Amino acid sequence: MFEQYKSLLSELVKFKSVSTDASFLSEIQATVVWYKKLFQDNGFTVQVVEGHDNPLIVADYVADSSLKTVLVYGHYDVQPASKEEGWDSEPFALSERNGRLYARGVIDNKGQHLVHVVNVFKHIHNKTLGYNIKFLIEGAEEIGSPNLERFIKENRKFLKADFVLLSDGEISGNMPNIEIGFRGIFNATLNIKVGNVDLHSGMYGGFAPNAIHELAKIISKFYTEDNRISEDELYLESAPITKEILENNKNIPFFQEEYEKITGKRKFFTENNLDFYTKTGLLPSIEVTGIQSGYAGEGYRNAIPHKALAKINVRLSPTQDPQRVFASFKKFLKKITPDYIDWDINCDQSGKGVFVEVDNEHVAGAKKILETVWQKPVALKYVGGSLPIITFFKDNLDLPTLSIPLVNEDCNMHGANENFELSYLEKAMEFSKIFFTKK
Ligand SMILES: [Zn+2]
Repeated sequence: MFEQYKSLLSELVKFKSVSTDASFLSEIQATVVWYKKLFQDNGFTVQVVEGHDNPLIVADYVADSSLKTVLVYGHYDVQPASKEEGWDSEPFALSERNGRLYARGVIDNKGQHLVHVVNVFKHIHNKTLGYNIKFLIEGAEEIGSPNLERFIKENRKFLKADFVLLSDGEISGNMPNIEIGFRGIFNATLNIKVGNVDLHSGMYGGFAPNAIHELAKIISKFYTEDNRISEDELYLESAPITKEILENNKNIPFFQEEYEKITGKRKFFTENNLDFYTKTGLLPSIEVTGIQSGYAGEGYRNAIPHKALAKINVRLSPTQDPQRVFASFKKFLKKITPDYIDWDINCDQSGKGVFVEVDNEHVAGAKKILETVWQKPVALKYVGGSLPIITFFKDNLDLPTLSIPLVNEDCNMHGANENFELSYLEKAMEFSKIFFTKK
């Protein structure tokens, strides 16, 4: 089955199904054709749904109407990649070396959902499939799935299932993980202006306000010295950090030295001595992800810039409402920005965080299988990233979700040399095989 997996994966990663750039549309279309044929050849009823960003593939297989139905989510779109970014092999060709498979999409997300696809096919072939299956494979995850919620709302009946299974993350702590929380998110652009023109830095230097300095002063007020967001209102409605949560999170190893080595950072911050998983999984954060102003080309332009902008990414505690926090953030900016600065801020993209239900038979069943495969206890993990799809399923279909990452933590998601370590792949295949087996 490994061979079948690798051969399908090598076909699949060849498609440059990049969703962040419209020039790859023909590759997206070719990918969809590939999936359609693959599912049809294996006995599925396939629908390609247009009109909600890139086409969605919904592939349906009814093994026995008395069985439960699992909706398996995945996405076929990928981040851009080029050899110049530091890849040691062609990004859009599968390569195997050092006990790992390399290619763009090999873990995000083609290679992860393909594990389930191949195992389901095998069970169909052997007549040992324990569920009815609906695969929902979308093509706009990397651009935030802007119309997926609308699709789900309009197709409640069509997507009817008993629970959702998705594998789209990384395994932390070298032990099997079930993801139980995701942070919310919003992105915003802050524009500031001091006057209407750039001024000569000789004639006005030290006298006229400088937009870069003013922006830096504003940004420097986001956090206190001990790395807490300065404005308490931004913590409102965040999830309480209970003793149980702290206990749970302390049991997941965090290999700080290894992180320092890989990232080259000599320091990581936290607040109130909280561990990594609590700080990144349950508390809000503000990251300035880009700034623009003045002149940074060759040579120098001796002028005092009058405008500047900052791109800001805010992550929210799973229980916080993005619009409410954005309103508080705006209020906070008003407080820390002097009158002589004109400013405005736009919220462009937002998504609510979520806590995933853990008190159900699906989680209990998956936990047991993971423990058997890994011979280790399962970590219940709060994830710092955001996965709006889980909120969509919960809010619109009222479906419990099982979020089980399958890949190594050093998989370089979105980066060069994206990879799937074979020892993890072996465990993933074993998990998926047992998971879909008829009881
Ligand atoms: Zn991604």
